[in-house]
Amino acid sequence: MRSSIRLGRLFGIEIGLHYSWFLIALLIMMSLASQFQRSNPGWGTSVIWALSALTAILFFVTLLAHELSHALVARAHGLATRAITLFALGGMAQIEKEPEDAKTEFLVGIVGPFSSAVMGLASLAIAWGLGWRIGSTPMTPWRAMFVWLGYINLSLAAFNMIPGYPLDGGRILRSILWLSERDQVRATRNAATVGKIIALLFIAVGIFQFFAGAGFGGLWIAFIGWFLLQAATASASMVTLSSGLRGVRVSDVMTSDCQMLNGNMNVEQFVEHYLLRSGRRCFVVEQNGEVAGLVTPHEIKALERQRWPYTTLADIMRPLDQLHTVAPTTPVMEALETMGRDDVNQLPVVTGSHLDGIITRANVLQFLQTRAELGR
Ligand SMILES: [Zn+2]
Repeated sequence: MRSSIRLGRLFGIEIGLHYSWFLIALLIMMSLASQFQRSNPGWGTSVIWALSALTAILFFVTLLAHELSHALVARAHGLATRAITLFALGGMAQIEKEPEDAKTEFLVGIVGPFSSAVMGLASLAIAWGLGWRIGSTPMTPWRAMFVWLGYINLSLAAFNMIPGYPLDGGRILRSILWLSERDQVRATRNAATVGKIIALLFIAVGIFQFFAGAGFGGLWIAFIGWFLLQAATASASMVTLSSGLRGVRVSDVMTSDCQMLNGNMNVEQFVEHYLLRSGRRCFVVEQNGEVAGLVTPHEIKALERQRWPYTTLADIMRPLDQLHTVAPTTPVMEALETMGRDDVNQLPVVTGSHLDGIITRANVLQFLQTRAELGR
């Protein structure tokens, strides 16, 4: 979700639009316009397009409200949400941590479909107030808009209740399994398995419909299935990873034999005499007797070869004050999450103001490999 446009903040949560959103917004607008054209051609082109655009925008407002409801319930239980991103398949609230108990998981999960259902019923009630009756074709633009918003939000509530993790229904299923089995890891694995089965069903139905003549609609269902399959697989491997790293601290995997280098050394000297000679991956740059930053092969690669003799390590290092740091006692899983968030491959390990070493993704991988080879 990196390639997204920031829209601003709501309740302190960053709201973003992924580029794929524009495509889907356009498709929704076009399908609304053709639907209104068929049911009420008398409205005229400009009314139909303005109504379609407004309806599509309000639809995304309700999607945003759905995600916000997850975020606000999560916050009420002490879980912060970094950002909400709207993309082609709806919205996603990036809640920073997993809930610590099944009840929180249940509440965070169910509030989404619940709010969609409430918004759906409210829209239908407004349409009713404007004179629309159930089963009839809405004959005014306002009625048509609220009827569409009503049904789409009710379908959204129903779709999200499908018990395939990581859909809301899957989260609810996980919380129920978690509560009955008292094992979060197993509950997640089982919920993810159900998620995969449902995803495969989506793909099968979509492909079948495509060949039965449903065209784009069929492909769309298959695509949603594919997306759900990826998400369920990722959640399953995430839980395997976090159970493999349970109880493991940064100090268990970090590299502590870092070499101190003077910040005035040029890059060519560094590469020839240190980087290629020693096979070490951890180099710390000091300036005026203090640790100032880290240098990794990544920074060297970003620099043109001809400039190596004229560039100092201090010029290319990652300054320590721009990097998040972790403590030796930090759980490794938390360090990995920080790396993911900052899009870096290593983090300095610091106690107070003293640098103890660095932790890299490679450290963690090696640790897991060794464990796997020993069959533990
Ligand atoms: Zn949801």
